[in-house]
Amino acid sequence: AARGSPTPAILCFAPEREAALRRTLELEAELRIAIAEGQFQLHWQPQRRLSDGELLGFEALLRWNHPTRGMVPPDAFIPLAEKTGLIVPLGAWVIRTATAETAGWPGALKAGVNLSAIQLRAEGLVETVAAALAASGLPAHRLELEVTESMLVEDGPQAARVIGGLQALGVSVALDDFGTGWSSLAYLRRFAFDELKIDRQFLRDLEADPRVEAVVGAILGMGRGLGMRVVAEGVETREQADRLLALGCERGQGWLLGRPMPAEQARALIAAEAAPAAA
Ligand code: C2E
Ligand code: MG
Ligand code: MG
Ligand code: MG
Repeated sequence: AARGSPTPAILCFAPEREAALRRTLELEAELRIAIAEGQFQLHWQPQRRLSDGELLGFEALLRWNHPTRGMVPPDAFIPLAEKTGLIVPLGAWVIRTATAETAGWPGALKAGVNLSAIQLRAEGLVETVAAALAASGLPAHRLELEVTESMLVEDGPQAARVIGGLQALGVSVALDDFGTGWSSLAYLRRFAFDELKIDRQFLRDLEADPRVEAVVGAILGMGRGLGMRVVAEGVETREQADRLLALGCERGQGWLLGRPMPAEQARALIAAEAAPAAA
């Protein structure tokens, strides 16, 4: 239609927008059913010491095992779950399931769980975590909750209260995707994170660009100065791991070190690596 022609509003509703809206509504309805019917599953990705590959823990990554569409990745449904508020019950399910699946793991292996800003803002997160720890028997110090900077932007004082409440339980809190936001440094000053996860965008150019190396080196120095563990995300190659080690980064997560896998597979991996190597 020509611009400026007096078109009734209803006709401005482009068919592709209508289709997109319909898909969103469909997805929302499916999401509610999925929560009720238990179509979600956690996959666990190893975190390892870079020097010798020793297992340090795993991060829980949410998967939707959709009846017709197969395994749906979180980026395809978490934004909608957040918009509809469904992330609160879904996030509580993640916390309960993650603690239950890892409570029996041996040693000091950590379980990482991602949080959404909406969960941080909603009432009752600290209580949900405390109840999940009590029900599963997972010691609090083995649970690590991951937050991103975007969560802290709008909710400064409230977020600080909740993060403090979680740490008071003995749980540790990591700042995820570090370095991708606008005010990462301000947040390091305001919150006492236990761990920093360097976003994988830095890893991509680590070998090619000396400036990236300087930035990663500075992040590591800051982490040390503030008494935080620093983990590199998205380690895909031996070269990246070696470069990280040379810079003093001791921990990593990424395809080189292990893909996300179902809990039974993670358990088998833990058992295999704990067993003494065959002579
Ligand atoms: P994240 O917490 O930063 O998780 C790391 C993401 O990077 C995961 O994607 C993981 O599969 C992927 N990854 C790991 N190693 C590599 C690598 O070497 N190369 C590349 N290219 N990618 C790698 P995934 O599972 O698709 O999750 C995406 C994001 O969804 C997560 O980013 C997290 O922000 C969010 N998410 C996942 N599970 C949950 C959850 O239970 N609750 C909430 N609120 N968010 C979640
Ligand atoms: Mg994470
Ligand atoms: Mg991340
Ligand atoms: Mg992320």
